[in-house]
Amino acid sequence: MKYPCAIINDLLPLYADGVCSKESRQAVMEHLKDCACCRKEYEKMEQYAAQTTNHYPAEAKSTAFIGTDSLAKVRRELLVKRILTAAAAALIVIGLAAGTGIFMKNNVHSVVYNPDTQNIQVVQQSDGDMIARLYGTEWESVYSRTIELEDGQNAVVFSMTSSSWNDLVIGENTASEYLIAGNGKDVGLVSQVYFLSQPVNELSYDQLVKLFANHPEQFTLLWEKE
Ligand SMILES: [Zn+2]
Repeated sequence: MKYPCAIINDLLPLYADGVCSKESRQAVMEHLKDCACCRKEYEKMEQYAAQTTNHYPAEAKSTAFIGTDSLAKVRRELLVKRILTAAAAALIVIGLAAGTGIFMKNNVHSVVYNPDTQNIQVVQQSDGDMIARLYGTEWESVYSRTIELEDGQNAVVFSMTSSSWNDLVIGENTASEYLIAGNGKDVGLVSQVYFLSQPVNELSYDQLVKLFANHPEQFTLLWEKE
């Protein structure tokens, strides 16, 4: 015999499991052919292995089952966590967007007349109504004041406020309209309509008349009776 039984005995479990090297397997096989003692040992091992493969499957299966089950549970929990995280992130984004939207909606400013785009126009409709059209944003509020002119006619001065939100969402060619003077006796007296790029409501009548007299360049003439 090439190898002592002790060495073969050490190798037997590996041999039985089929995980030993080719050379070791060869050595064990040769040894088993000649050594009844080691062969018996090997048979015992085989028997035990057969028993455990008979017994073990159920156990192994249930272990595997528990394993998969708990893995699935972990996966589920991870998924729930991910969904919650995503939901929280979405809520934060929605919150920020809503906050920004509210901020922009509340960020009201005077509309400024742009001579290049002529973003504000005044037209008199066939029914006599005088309409102010604002392009590119939407008016939040319109303030108008009537100045009595020396010739007994009236000049209407109006200003508009809008919000950053409106500036952002309203298209350049979208118009929002405001009725400046309705078809009545008032409109007949109106000979001029001016736009002021600052809140006309914050000026007293006297202040407005003074400003009109001293700084006519701040008033944009948008309509004049022919
Ligand atoms: Zn032996």
